[in-house]
Amino acid sequence: MKTFDPVQAITRVRREFGEHGGVCPSISRSSTFTVMAPETMPEIFQGLRSPDKGGCYLYSRHFNPTIDVLARYLAAMEGTEYAVCTASGMAAIACTLLQICSQGDHIVASHTVYGGTHALLEDLLPELGVTTSFVTPDDPAAFRAALRPTTKVLYTETIGNPTLKVADIPALARIAKEHGLQLVVDNTFTPMIVSPAVLGADVVVYSMTKFINGASDLLAGAICARRSFVHDLMNLHTGRMMLLGPSMDPRAAFDIIQRLPHLAVRLREHGRRALAVAQHLTALGLKVTYPGLPNFPQRTLFRALRNEGLGDGGILAVDCGTPAKADQLMDRLQNVERFGFMAVSLGYFDTLMSCSGATTSSEIAPADQAAMGLSPGLLRLSVGITGRLQERLAQLDRAVRAVGLAV
Ligand code: PLP
Repeated sequence: MKTFDPVQAITRVRREFGEHGGVCPSISRSSTFTVMAPETMPEIFQGLRSPDKGGCYLYSRHFNPTIDVLARYLAAMEGTEYAVCTASGMAAIACTLLQICSQGDHIVASHTVYGGTHALLEDLLPELGVTTSFVTPDDPAAFRAALRPTTKVLYTETIGNPTLKVADIPALARIAKEHGLQLVVDNTFTPMIVSPAVLGADVVVYSMTKFINGASDLLAGAICARRSFVHDLMNLHTGRMMLLGPSMDPRAAFDIIQRLPHLAVRLREHGRRALAVAQHLTALGLKVTYPGLPNFPQRTLFRALRNEGLGDGGILAVDCGTPAKADQLMDRLQNVERFGFMAVSLGYFDTLMSCSGATTSSEIAPADQAAMGLSPGLLRLSVGITGRLQERLAQLDRAVRAVGLAV
């Protein structure tokens, strides 16, 4: 299980060169593609031909050569048979769930997920007749206890946004297998660091808007899964990707193809700095949650799940006590110290800070936030990789003391 090496796996994908032998692939922007013989087109519509079946391209909402290069890299990185890229992370999550579930079906989901996902599960899907029971992600028995005869999906984030609770993916995979369910895992916080499909997940979804792209200049998502599931999504008559249409732009695919080769390097540095920040804040007496800290409640589980040599991720949570204190600290860190930016999202090369309860988790009712362990003063930091680390720690130190969170 631990022998999987996503860094090495990507290098084994057939390299796609650009026109004239360019070391970068060309961007194929055509929305539609010619065929050489009239009988080819009906065969594509029947699903007999697709690029991965020795076939050809038809239309870019279906398959596109540039996007397909990225999909092959992602599948290799994830250890899945295939992948499909989407216009955003939410598109990947919504299309996956709508592909598996229909009216009357039921989902058991972690209650500590991104606010948009929570709203999809709690508000939108019930309107379509698909209901969800929410459970704590760190207890596989809670998933089992919530199963119903109509359950189709177990859904979790590898590390929950923003509480950082870790899901026991192998245990959830066993439950899914026993009951013929699909385990869907959002691995946005920990690409490469954890390989959910290798640990037993059926479908891995991503917001590539975050670490995978790393530059906060585009929106993107991905679904990595068995070849048959990708083909179901791309079925020209019934596939949710085809009928809902959240396709990626080939230019976005090209940008991510250019950044994927240094994802591992970036992750190691995000992890090294996040650990230093977490240790520094802990030493100042603040309550910090970070998977790399010795007091992280699920440290043993996280160590068992993660791949070697890529660190513990770039995200940490600091409990500032109240939203007002969290706001003061962010304000100081951005506007006085130039430490980072008050902005939602994560995985950028600069530090991003947001008070989750009132922002990215605001779709979740206060009582549910309390139940999932999200304190109103929780400040989420996506630790960046710019500047000198010692200077960053000094900026942090000054800001924490200035707002009275340490003396
Ligand atoms: N999954 C997680 C864990 C997220 O944090 C986010 C966004 O913050 C999403 C999914 C949604 O991604 P996108 O904004 O690319 O649609």
